[in-house]
Amino acid sequence: MTDNNELLASTGDSSVESEYFSPIPDGYQKGKTKYVVVMGTVMSGLGKGIFSSCLAKLMLDKGLKVAPIKLEGYLNIDSGTLNPFRHGEVFVLDDGMECDMDLGTYERMLDQNLDRNNFSTSGQIYRDVLEKERRGDYLGRDVQMIPHVTGEVKLRLRTLAMKSNADIVFVEIGGTAGDLENAFYIEAMRELAYEEGAHSCCFVALTYILEPRILGEQKSKAAQLGIKQLMQCGIQPDIIACRASSPVNEKVRQKISIYSNVPISRVVSLADSASIYQIPAMLRECGMDFEVLRLLHIEDRIDLRRERTEWAKWCDFTDKIGKEKQEVVIGITGKYTSVRDSYASIINALEHSGIALGCKVKINWIDTSDITDKNAAEHLKDVDGIIVPGGFGVRGTEGKISCIKYARMHKLPFLGLCFGFQMAVIEFARNVCGLKKANSTEIEPKCSEPVIDILPEQKAIEGLGGNMRLGGQDMKLKPDTAAFKLFGNKQTVRMRFRHRYEVDPRYVETLEKAGLIFSGKSPTQPIMQILELPGHPYFIATQAHPCLTSRPLHPQPMFTGLVAAAMSNK
Ligand code: GLN
Repeated sequence: MTDNNELLASTGDSSVESEYFSPIPDGYQKGKTKYVVVMGTVMSGLGKGIFSSCLAKLMLDKGLKVAPIKLEGYLNIDSGTLNPFRHGEVFVLDDGMECDMDLGTYERMLDQNLDRNNFSTSGQIYRDVLEKERRGDYLGRDVQMIPHVTGEVKLRLRTLAMKSNADIVFVEIGGTAGDLENAFYIEAMRELAYEEGAHSCCFVALTYILEPRILGEQKSKAAQLGIKQLMQCGIQPDIIACRASSPVNEKVRQKISIYSNVPISRVVSLADSASIYQIPAMLRECGMDFEVLRLLHIEDRIDLRRERTEWAKWCDFTDKIGKEKQEVVIGITGKYTSVRDSYASIINALEHSGIALGCKVKINWIDTSDITDKNAAEHLKDVDGIIVPGGFGVRGTEGKISCIKYARMHKLPFLGLCFGFQMAVIEFARNVCGLKKANSTEIEPKCSEPVIDILPEQKAIEGLGGNMRLGGQDMKLKPDTAAFKLFGNKQTVRMRFRHRYEVDPRYVETLEKAGLIFSGKSPTQPIMQILELPGHPYFIATQAHPCLTSRPLHPQPMFTGLVAAAMSNK
């Protein structure tokens, strides 16, 4: 039998002579990068991304380089066409990748920008394998799930390891052990651990401890079965994180330990927490960070002095959670008002700003389907400020416009995001400029005053996926405006975009003459990016999605501005 060194050395090309196949990027150094693999059992939605990002944060604080990657089971090439109602918000990275909302959790927790190397779907993996097959890269071999598809997965992880120069790559596998669609990912992780050798990979199984109300006690059976399922795939977990509504008791942890060959010190309780920003402290308390370092044999790589300063900064932030002295209510109008995940970044951005200002931000979800100019006051009577967020399609738009009109006329603090920016332009055009027929061609394709229209460069591109303006873009700010002040008198700022429509440049002069200020514009194209109304305490909107770049220790200024205005409005 060959040892795994030989196996690694023999890889790279596929030949009919050998069964070994595991493509390795040129220059890959085995042992340099370690892998922490986070998998779920029992059910989805356990917060694998939250767990993984919190653990990664602890390692980053210790001076280690970390790179997360989410492996999604679905066949879509990216998350762009996914309905946020089903799958949570579509998170957009600076390079334009549309991905799962977990990438937002990683960016916020690590205060680090990610890119398309940090996100993979089954669709991408199969696409790459099939493209290689068509190019003849497999040299006459029949292309198989093992070793070719799993080989492609390992190639991605090793490429990320090399590109990021990471000490640890955090691999989060979407779905749950036992799902057909992610089975090849789990198999790839088994192979990876074998090929990389001892102390190269740390497997974490997240599981859930049920506590049926009728029994009044915690039950571990579902967790045991879930872990067994993972073990049947050849994966021996090193750490088991038990999610539960309340702290998991010793007896249950013992039982799980016995059934899974994991010492009890590594079977940890992770009860629900009011804020995800408190989870890094929970992981530290149970010694998870050092367990992982020991398992991976990298205790000697850490910088404890750096950790002390980073941790102190973090605690300055988390110490403020729950101690807010004031409270404001922000209304968010939106189509997916019943699902918090659809607006995850906005909720996070409000939380960051609230904590920074010592103010608890409560959210009132407002369904705009029945809102009109006549009853807007009634619907908005309990809020101190409103956000009209991004969206697509017709439903509820007239209600949103009525809310914006009310905010404009009654000096209610208002922040418009993407679609909300477009609605603010329509409202102003109709009710201030007198363009009664003003609309967006997204809502009314044949409208006679298309103040919002499809981007000229996008008109040519057909099909739903792939014709949006995506990713990070610079904005030039106009001196002496509210936006300019919010961003600390910076000339240029960068935000992320995801839109197909924009202000038609032909209307800009009319809008500006009537008093609207476009305080942020594209430095190179006639694209309006921020608008504001002078004389109003806070009326500001942007074509971008500023929520995507708000970070716990660096709250996004447009959100901080809104919360501050809402506080004064109270
Ligand atoms: N539907 C609008 C557009 O395509 C806004 C998009 C959004 O809010 N993300 O331009």
